[in-house]
Amino acid sequence: MIRDFVYSRVNTVKEALDLLEKHKDKNKIICGGQSLLILMRQRLVTPEYLIDIKRIEELNYINFDPKEGLKIGATTTHRTIEKSSAIKKHFPVLVDMEENLASIQTRNWGTIGGNLAHGDPAGCPAPVLIALNATVKMANKERARSMPIEEFTLDYFETALEEDELLLEIQVPSIPSKTAIVYEKFNIIKNDMGIVSVASSISVDEDGVNCKDARIVLGGAAFTPLRAKGAEKMVVGKKLDDDLLDLVGEKASAEADPVDDIHAT
Ligand SMILES: Cc1cc2nc3c(=O)[nH]c(=O)nc-3n(C[C@H](O)[C@H](O)[C@H](O)COP(=O)(O)OP(=O)(O)OC[C@H]3O[C@@H](n4cnc5c(N)ncnc54)[C@H](O)[C@@H]3O)c2cc1C
Repeated sequence: MIRDFVYSRVNTVKEALDLLEKHKDKNKIICGGQSLLILMRQRLVTPEYLIDIKRIEELNYINFDPKEGLKIGATTTHRTIEKSSAIKKHFPVLVDMEENLASIQTRNWGTIGGNLAHGDPAGCPAPVLIALNATVKMANKERARSMPIEEFTLDYFETALEEDELLLEIQVPSIPSKTAIVYEKFNIIKNDMGIVSVASSISVDEDGVNCKDARIVLGGAAFTPLRAKGAEKMVVGKKLDDDLLDLVGEKASAEADPVDDIHAT
C-alpha cells in the first residue's frame, strides 16, 4: 500500500517552486504518475508531500522555429508529441520513438518531463534527445539553468535535478543538413520498455560521401544512457559501408556496460 502523503495540486510554475522550496527533501513532484506511482506502491519512494503539476498549462506546449529549433514544455504528453505535425515534419525520429513507447493509455497520460526526470536508463526519449544534441532547462525559486541532456542523467534513476528544482523545457536544435537520425529498440513485449536500444545521428559532408559527424547513443546498456564515443570516432571522416558498420557495432557493444536484470544478462 502507498504511505499517506499530503497532496497539493498546483496550476503555475511559481506555485510549484514555492512548494518545492517549502518542504525541500520531503517532496515529490507527480505529473502523469505513470512511473512514480509504481515506485510509491512498492514503497521505494515515500514522499510526505506530493505536488501535482499535471495542470500547469504554461509547461504544456510544443513550439518550433527553424532558427530557434524545437521547444517542448515538460508537462507535454508523449501522445501530444507523437501527434504533433511540426515534430512529424522536422523531427520524425521523435514520432518513431513515441509511437513505440508504452501503450496509448500510458502515452496519453505520461509526460516527456516525467520520463526524463525519472532517469530510467532504459527510457526511450533520452537516447534520441542526446543524439539530437538537446538541452534541458530547469529552475528553482532563485534561478533557472540549462544543460546538455547528455549530462542530465547522473546514475541509475538519478538525475541532475536538485530537490527544489522543476524540469521546465526540452530544447532541440534544428537538425543539420545531410543528417539522418534513427532510433531502434529491442524488446520482448511490444511497446514495453526496451531491453536495449540505440539512437544514431549521422551527418555526411556536402558531397554526401564521408561522415562528418556522428552520435551513437545506447539505451538500457549502462547505468545511464551512454554515448559510444569510440564507435563514433570510427565513422567520422570515413565513407560508410556494411563492413565498417559491422565493426562499429562491435565497438559500440564493447563500450556498453549493461546491468544484469530479469530480462537479460
Ligand atoms: C506499462 C508501461 C510501459 C512503459 N513503457 C515505456 C517505454 O517503452 N519507454 C519509456 O521510455 N517509458 C515507458 N514507460 C515509462 C513512462 O511512460 C514514463 O516514464 C512516463 O512518461 C513518466 O511521465 P509521468 O508524467 O507519468 O511522470 P511521473 O510518474 O509523474 O514522474 C516520474 C518522475 O519524474 C519526476 N517528475 C515528473 N515531472 C517532473 C518535472 N517537470 N520536474 C521535475 N521532476 C518531475 C517525478 O517526481 C518522478 O520522480 C512505461 C510505463 C508504463 C506504466
